[in-house]
Amino acid sequence: MGPVRTGDELSFDVLVVGAGVAGLVAALTLAEEAPHLRVAVLDKGQIGSSGSTPLAQGGMAAAVGADDSPALHAADTLRAGDGLGDERAVRILATEAPARVADLERWGARFDHDPAGAFSLAREGGQTVSRSVRAADATGAEIFRALRERATGRLTRLQGVAVEPALAAAPSRPLHGVWALLDATEATPTGPAQEGGLALVRARAVLLATGGCGGLYAGTTNRDGATADGVAFAWQAGAELTDLEFVQFHPTGLKPRDGGESFWRLLLTEALRGAGAHLIDGEGHRFMPSRHPDAELAPRHVVAKAILDQPGGAWLDGRHLGARVWAEEFPTVLAGARRFGFDPLTEPLPVEPCEHYMIGGAATDLHGRTTVDGLWAAGEVACPGVHGANRMAGNSLSQSCVFGRRAALSIAAWLDGRSEAAGDPHPPALAPGDATDVSATRAELRRVLSRGAGAVRSGAGLDEAAKALDALAAAAPAALPAHRDAIELRNGLLVGELIVRAASLREESRGVHWREDFPGHDPRWERARIRFSGTSEPHVRS
Ligand SMILES: Cc1cc2nc3c(=O)[nH]c(=O)nc-3n(C[C@H](O)[C@H](O)[C@H](O)COP(=O)(O)OP(=O)(O)OC[C@H]3O[C@@H](n4cnc5c(N)ncnc54)[C@H](O)[C@@H]3O)c2cc1C
Repeated sequence: MGPVRTGDELSFDVLVVGAGVAGLVAALTLAEEAPHLRVAVLDKGQIGSSGSTPLAQGGMAAAVGADDSPALHAADTLRAGDGLGDERAVRILATEAPARVADLERWGARFDHDPAGAFSLAREGGQTVSRSVRAADATGAEIFRALRERATGRLTRLQGVAVEPALAAAPSRPLHGVWALLDATEATPTGPAQEGGLALVRARAVLLATGGCGGLYAGTTNRDGATADGVAFAWQAGAELTDLEFVQFHPTGLKPRDGGESFWRLLLTEALRGAGAHLIDGEGHRFMPSRHPDAELAPRHVVAKAILDQPGGAWLDGRHLGARVWAEEFPTVLAGARRFGFDPLTEPLPVEPCEHYMIGGAATDLHGRTTVDGLWAAGEVACPGVHGANRMAGNSLSQSCVFGRRAALSIAAWLDGRSEAAGDPHPPALAPGDATDVSATRAELRRVLSRGAGAVRSGAGLDEAAKALDALAAAAPAALPAHRDAIELRNGLLVGELIVRAASLREESRGVHWREDFPGHDPRWERARIRFSGTSEPHVRS
């Protein structure tokens, strides 16, 4: 492909938005299984600079151990999901995950093995046996390295932000592709040189693989670009969204000294607790054994709540693991903690729950199809119902690989014999002109969501958050400036409002959704899932 000029017609069979594990697995599957299709991947920023995949630490859950089975993996996943997991989706995840691990190895990923050649597996929260295939504590970085190398020369990469769906006029509003704000870039081994600016990227099928929503919260393990763009995109396209009230807070983000400047938190992987690190209070006493039979390996929401309940704060104590275990099994955490001025070998690490994973998202079937023709979703942005009300550790990487592949195969079958949508789409809602500084509004959005729709919620707090978000939306520019920050803010305000609405509606506590004013399960909500779409009022479906 020659240099990309925004005035040119950019046309592909498939546009994958997002180059994390889900997007790359889907695109590479298409390259292998349907090589006649022209596939491009559009991603924000420099390769590897955004997205959660390169940060994943603990591992990828797959029943590959001698004492494990897909049935056990499925049972653990459903138990963690607290009554809301979709059994068919969970069975698929557990059955197909081992084959997806094999794909990754075939594509070059190097996972840890014991001297006999068996996988060296980590045990994480909610897992009854060790199940997480890993590469020390840098599993995501290793998967990402392999996928990226495999993609070089096989996929076209465009760099920029997907702004909104390119839709024709009502009533049927067929999807023509994506309006994208491209960066000006030099050619790289994975992508052509680009002229910066707004472009229509035509595609017969679009796969959203844009990751999560951590960038909407004040403390998160996610990186900057995680602003739920794909959820907003699906909404704008008229697709159904579901389970948005379920936002997972990881119990053990490293709490920086003096609160820290940044909203990013270093994750202290659950595998540390699997290896024997303890949670202690200000007096040095373990508090998890009295909270749950699995103590430190209880489901994440149980551990998060227990940490928040410690009046004097909580610490993760891994001193007794010893220098060798830290250096060999947790080098990423060791180096990261030292960068923040802590030494895990000699002191317990202060921890606090922080946003980690968006469980809800664009509702999909078992093949990644959203409710809009031509639009698929996979990875963290998608919600096929695998995680129910709480994601079990390690299941995100497996979900992304299993359903990323399924989406790719579904797209290839759907495109067979189908032509491009006729006509032209509406122009996007972008105003020409300079970027405006939206950093203060974005910081306020993070503060409002963290306070009102964080790890512990209440009706009053959610009402307050809804009002504050209304005020922020009213103060935001009516016409959207052609700038990434403004687009991310618009998406964040929309998805933040939907999270708050969903969390207000679900008047019970379930999984990661913890309502102080409704502390238990409510049988009326037993199998109920809240659905939104841009074209209907929120509704509840079992
Ligand atoms: C610190 C950390 C540790 C984790 N550890 C584990 C673990 O051990 N095991 C596990 O299973 N899970 C883990 N997770 C979760 C897991 O890493 C993620 O859920 C998973 O990698 C998501 O993959 P993805 O492909 O859906 O999205 P991502 O990897 O987040 O990639 C999304 C991509 O989409 C791009 N994008 C977003 N919006 C746009 C837009 N508008 N236009 C263009 N591009 C866009 C972004 O730039 C990004 O590159 C961890 C997460 C974090 C943050």
